[in-house]
Amino acid sequence: ADEDLESVPLSFPSISISSGERRWSDTTPYASKKKLQSWFQLPNGNWELGKIITTSGNESIISLPDRKVLKVKEESLVPANPDILDGVDDLMQLSYLNEPSVLYNLRYRYNQNMIYTKAGPVLVAINPFKKVPLYGNDYIEAYKRKAIESPHVYAIADTAIREMIRDEVNQSIIISGESGAGKTETAKIAMQYLAALGGGSGIEYEILKTNPILEAFGNAKTLRNDNSSRFGKLIEIHFSETGKISGANIQTLVQCNEGERSYHIFYQLCAGAPPSLRGKLNLQNAEDYKYLRQSNCYSISGVNDADEFRTVMEALDVVHIRKEDQENVFAMLAAVLWLGNISFTVIDNENHVQAVEDEGLFHVAKLIGCDIEDLKLILSTRKMKVGNDNIVQKLTLSQAIDARDALAKSIYACLFDWLVEQINKSLAVGKRRTGRSISILDIYGFESFNRNSFEQFCINYANERLQQHFNRHLFKLEQEEYIQDGIDWAKVEFEDNQDCLNLFEKRPLGLLSLLDEESTFPNGTDLTFANKLKQHLNSNSCFKGERDQAFTVHHYAGQVTYDTTGFLEKNRDLLHLDSIQLLSSCTCPLPQIFASHMLTQSDKPAVGPLHKSGGADSQKLSVATKFKGQLFRLMQQLESTTPHFIRCIKPNNLQSPESYEQGLVLQQLRCCGVLEVVRISRSGFPTRMFHQKFARRYGFLLLDHVASQDPLSVSVAILHQFNILPEMYQVGYTKLFFRTGQIGVLEDTRNRT
Ligand code: ATP
Ligand code: MG
Repeated sequence: ADEDLESVPLSFPSISISSGERRWSDTTPYASKKKLQSWFQLPNGNWELGKIITTSGNESIISLPDRKVLKVKEESLVPANPDILDGVDDLMQLSYLNEPSVLYNLRYRYNQNMIYTKAGPVLVAINPFKKVPLYGNDYIEAYKRKAIESPHVYAIADTAIREMIRDEVNQSIIISGESGAGKTETAKIAMQYLAALGGGSGIEYEILKTNPILEAFGNAKTLRNDNSSRFGKLIEIHFSETGKISGANIQTLVQCNEGERSYHIFYQLCAGAPPSLRGKLNLQNAEDYKYLRQSNCYSISGVNDADEFRTVMEALDVVHIRKEDQENVFAMLAAVLWLGNISFTVIDNENHVQAVEDEGLFHVAKLIGCDIEDLKLILSTRKMKVGNDNIVQKLTLSQAIDARDALAKSIYACLFDWLVEQINKSLAVGKRRTGRSISILDIYGFESFNRNSFEQFCINYANERLQQHFNRHLFKLEQEEYIQDGIDWAKVEFEDNQDCLNLFEKRPLGLLSLLDEESTFPNGTDLTFANKLKQHLNSNSCFKGERDQAFTVHHYAGQVTYDTTGFLEKNRDLLHLDSIQLLSSCTCPLPQIFASHMLTQSDKPAVGPLHKSGGADSQKLSVATKFKGQLFRLMQQLESTTPHFIRCIKPNNLQSPESYEQGLVLQQLRCCGVLEVVRISRSGFPTRMFHQKFARRYGFLLLDHVASQDPLSVSVAILHQFNILPEMYQVGYTKLFFRTGQIGVLEDTRNRT
């Protein structure tokens, strides 16, 4: 084998980018290369490895694995890598870094249970959907001793620890990918490694136990993932001087949509609550609750909800949630369930309603600690301020149902936040030092469906922010290397997505501002919102108005068309102020805390004394604004860290260990920026070689005698002889830097000689 093959990419394809769609093309003179193997794209989009039999003119005859022989145009072929590069553990080592080669390499490894591959600085993890023998103490030990070099989450975590200690800089491990791609599992694997290396104080055990709690309360079964996280999470793990874990802090990022089944904890509670608790909460079976009946899905294959409930209870003990508080938590869960069972009767011919006095109403009042009459009132009326007068508006059936559901959702959301707060208190570090933490971010990736709504809008906005962080970091890494070697880095092209972020964030004329503005207008509708966007944003190159009430955004990962249907309603916080007031007057502790939390969440002037009701709803933060606030806090924390990136990929949509769909993988590689990393690396001078190595490798090709034999002079003479254009390379202090594909000519000549 060629000693230099591994470290030096020999010839690179270049990438041409057209708006929205990215394609790779090979600009190196290919026909002259007499390559034997080539990728050929079948009509179904899949790539097949073909053998070139003969080439004449710009046509080749190739044979495919199924023995079919085809005559194809030269340009429809994409070069394949030599066999010795099969399954390299860093995609950057591939001579030809085109899409089929990347796909082939990942699959080659995946088939051998090597689910991790590097793409330069990024770790690509492909979900195996089965147990793979890559984890546990032996592996942890081996990675710690550096006895294994293959790419792994452990290796990433190890690097993070080492760099934290070496540089005294906070680190982060940023995990992204589609739903079901394996982010949460990957985050746990990283935590496992950190806990093993930084363990000793016992607090690492508590930190690991936050996982079952957060998953019970924050995950739900969806069509795409039986254990889908319905929130984004950043867990910051602190280390002491001696490298031991000393505490942690969790931040969450709300996601607006729910799963097919509701949150796991509801089913767990119904299935696993001990008899005394059942009695206290008047618990029924999951089937008896309307909220849980909606999906008609009560169990998950391979999961025993009752067992899971015991795991969660134990975990709550471990993170020091007092028994009394645990009971309060379960009471809130039961209250939410019973709320869903409250029904209404129409009381007049204007469709106004009243809550039915049945067990639903009764249990809710008891569980939150309020008067039944007060509860009835807030579920069927709404206090409003008209001019200076307070009036009471009766609710129609659909309004009452909305009010009820909004109350249930708010109680649950507050409960989740409260739990996280309690866990944070329990894991809090006394004296924090900067430069001594590793944060793990588990956040949903870019989404693009046939129909995209408010949820995708928020998610993709967050990903746009993360992508900027990613780009800037990679660019910085590149830049550092150039500066170190005295290279003019201004010549490195670098694509920034600031324009797209401006489209979202600009005030007053950005997507988020306009959405908030329209949400507060009483007469605002999804249509008026869409029209406003078209009116104000059409000049923005990242925006395009569409027919009906849709608009398109040019994201870094591609174009996404959003349907504004439901945007305003999802953005408005539907909870009535009356409901908040009811909670604040409850005798149970948690509703009171929730109420004060809801009212102080606003960054605007305080709402005023509680009894002065009405008209204050506009002061509650919109969902998008809350989301943006959380995202900013999260990014702020990440800004000061050295990031390490893991991109999770799912090979199929069936959660199956058997299938690997090329198209699906490719689309994710594009969306999560893996191909982009390569592109960024390539847009500069990606091929690098030390002067000595270059002189040694190609010196014998020189036709004229060179006066001075030092490596630099020899190198420059070679460059001249081969007419390599000045803009195609740069000479650094120690290395030569080449644009994509430049070394190919030299390498070909060398091989022919
Ligand atoms: P979501 O965005 O919906 O939360 P996710 O990316 O967090 O999705 P996970 O819940 O981590 O996805 O993974 C989905 C499932 O894939 C897991 O429940 C598990 O069955 C399987 N899985 C993921 N990673 C691994 C792994 N390394 N080894 C074995 N199975 C895995
Ligand atoms: Mg998850």
